[in-house]
Amino acid sequence: MPEYKHFETKAIRNQSERSGYNEHSVPVYMTSSFTFEDAEQARALFADELDGNIYTRFSNPNNTEFINKLCAMEGTEDGIATASGMAAMFSSMAALLKNGDHILASRSVFGSTHQLFTQVFPKWGIEHTYADINNQDEWEDKIKPNTKMIFVETPSNPGLDIIDLEWLGLLAKRHNLILNVDNCFATPYLQQPAKYGAHLVTHSATKFIDGQGRTIAGAILGTKELIDEIRFFTRHTGPSLSPFNGWLLSKSLETLAVRMDRHCDSAIRIAEYLEGHDELELVKYPFLGSHPQSQLAKKQMKLGGGLVSFVVTGGFDRGRKFLNSLKMMSLTANLGDSRTIATHPASTTHSKLTDEERAEVGILPGLVRISVGLENVNDILEDIENALRASK
Ligand SMILES: *Cc1c(COP(=O)(O)O)cnc(C)c1O
Repeated sequence: MPEYKHFETKAIRNQSERSGYNEHSVPVYMTSSFTFEDAEQARALFADELDGNIYTRFSNPNNTEFINKLCAMEGTEDGIATASGMAAMFSSMAALLKNGDHILASRSVFGSTHQLFTQVFPKWGIEHTYADINNQDEWEDKIKPNTKMIFVETPSNPGLDIIDLEWLGLLAKRHNLILNVDNCFATPYLQQPAKYGAHLVTHSATKFIDGQGRTIAGAILGTKELIDEIRFFTRHTGPSLSPFNGWLLSKSLETLAVRMDRHCDSAIRIAEYLEGHDELELVKYPFLGSHPQSQLAKKQMKLGGGLVSFVVTGGFDRGRKFLNSLKMMSLTANLGDSRTIATHPASTTHSKLTDEERAEVGILPGLVRISVGLENVNDILEDIENALRASK
């Protein structure tokens, strides 16, 4: 395959070989297995002496195309497509860690990742410690002799805090730890953690990669050595992606750059409009000058991302009232969709946390998270403005 120079071209031109029909758009390879030419080829494929497809739980042309594109976009050597983002998070950890190992993670991680750390891994003797995304000083002190992996998300959800990937890459290197970055919020278009030394880059492709709220999927990308080890685990535990979803997501990657440009352009316009609004206590967006880490965000991200968070005056009840007053935006538990989505974390995704736990990850009672869609930005602004007025 030729090496394409630019991001958009990599996302579009890294295609599987044409089949005998000379199709222009890659077809869906809905097949559970692949035939062997003869007994010798079958033997060689199973012995890993030949590269090729055997069985869709191991690999499939649609999933391989999806992963090849993502690797070209993230700058990683190899990868695995998974049936969900959580399958990617789980496999990237469970395959490499064993009883007695320790993970150092950012406290502000996705809810199900938090459940993995606190409910699932302890059953197998894998422990974790949380560190504060906004306090670099405490990270090194929390590394233990049995620490094997550092896991972070940046920007974080829903606080949109940023962690310095270059600093983290050096920290991981100094202590010989695997750095695993969930790059779901930024996507490879805005940020490539492998450039800063991340050994693994994990994704929920359900979000901006699909970008249209159609499917659940994930990906694990990284160094060949680690991916080989994880591949053994996924081959035999079976979190494989459906070829149909691999096909869908490979097509989605073709438009990732143009979609992200629009998501980010609308998001910063909304953030700038809302900043200083009488009905709001705070507006958070990585590229706003008032964001405590805007310089860092600008250093490691191309644009500020598709999410904007703000805190309405009047707290918890006003936050809920605001959601009820929206006319256009969707109320749904997803993000990274062409349709704008509003969520109230304190009463939904983060309702099981105590007030202190919420405060630690920046979730105030009146916090509203907006996943800015691809509608005309003026319609989104009007919906927000009207809902702020109607919920007073
Ligand atoms: C949604 C999400 C996940 C989980 O992905 P699924 O595709 O829902 O399994 C993991 N990390 C982050 C940051 C997410 O937003």
